[in-house]
Amino acid sequence: MLLDKFAPMAQIRAELAAAGIRPFGAVTERLISATEAVVEGRTVILAGTNNYLGLSFDPRCIADAQEAAARWGTGTTGSRMANGTFAEHLALEAELADLYGLPHAMVFTTGFSATQGLCATLAGPGDVILLDADSHASIYSGAQLSGAEVLRFKHNDPADLEKRLRRLGERAADTLIVVEGIYSMLGDTAPLAEIAAVKREYGGFLMVDEAHSLGVLGEQGRGAADAAGVADAVDFFVGTFSKSLGAIGGFCASPHAALEAVRFSTRAYIFTASASPSVVASTRAALAIMRAEPQLQRRLWANAERLYAGLRDLGLQVGPQPGPVVAVLLDDRDTALAAWQRLLDAGIYVNLVVPPASPTGASLLRCSLSAAHSDAQIGRIIAAFADPVAGAAGAL
Ligand code: PMP
Repeated sequence: MLLDKFAPMAQIRAELAAAGIRPFGAVTERLISATEAVVEGRTVILAGTNNYLGLSFDPRCIADAQEAAARWGTGTTGSRMANGTFAEHLALEAELADLYGLPHAMVFTTGFSATQGLCATLAGPGDVILLDADSHASIYSGAQLSGAEVLRFKHNDPADLEKRLRRLGERAADTLIVVEGIYSMLGDTAPLAEIAAVKREYGGFLMVDEAHSLGVLGEQGRGAADAAGVADAVDFFVGTFSKSLGAIGGFCASPHAALEAVRFSTRAYIFTASASPSVVASTRAALAIMRAEPQLQRRLWANAERLYAGLRDLGLQVGPQPGPVVAVLLDDRDTALAAWQRLLDAGIYVNLVVPPASPTGASLLRCSLSAAHSDAQIGRIIAAFADPVAGAAGAL
């Protein structure tokens, strides 16, 4: 039966609901600031939002969004290829091209459609996509759609990438290599200097999804490839506006003139309405702030390092390195579920990630940091994890 395959998911949801736990889709009833909200009736510190620079409540971004809505209306009501290209979209594309010092940039309505659409379009039957095994679902789904041969290399393992490119022989030169700057689940950074060296030796095209590294790494927040000093080895920078820039949307920037033709060949770009002008305007404001205010990036990292050290010193198993995402790994799903609920009851909202969404098979209590978190808030997050009643430590 068509719908039978959903029975196991319905069963899990029913079990969680019976236990009074609602980790997937907890309702935010009111936002107080970039770091505080009322979730399911409790005032909580938001420690799971990807709002890395804390710009979602920046008054400059809000003012520009309001002004754009008044001037352009609430939506474009059409795709970029039809009636949906407004001057705002072109201005944002020019600003993104300028950020990377590259001639070409295109803007998508979501980050998902940027990575999925480009992976699906750039490679086709006869080509190869070689992706990091821990790639985001949008990359996997685009690779699947492309009709190309899809190969994986071991997560963050340039030697394995090299082995696979070597095996491809002449086909290596036409391979699309896809990696992320910072990985969203464990917060680890890709070894981009080594990956770029392998790409330079064997050829191929390198796409770096900077979704979690834009605004977080690199000069002016350009991301992980810039921070590693290998931006010139990247063929396609992709990313999203939904994290550091506090809005929604996606982009690609590239040195290749062909991007202009790719634009008109990408279904996820052609057959969807373009981003609302208010969203584009707040993104433009956030981009300018990201470039001009390096102290936000410094503040984010100070928070990340403090939380990482604090949780590690509690004896919790954390991800491989500090970063804007700090994940606590738990072997057992039920323990993680209970700990997630107790953290919420203690006023801390984190993301719960359970297999198969987590990369290692562990269940994760995934914290993401913001430049907007105060020292006191970071202290409260650590204290909640330490509390033998409220926190995860007690559950281990
Ligand atoms: N790429 C990566 C690596 C991501 O983590 C995400 C979102 N979690 C996306 C792409 C999609 O971005 P968006 O949610 O803005 O559509």
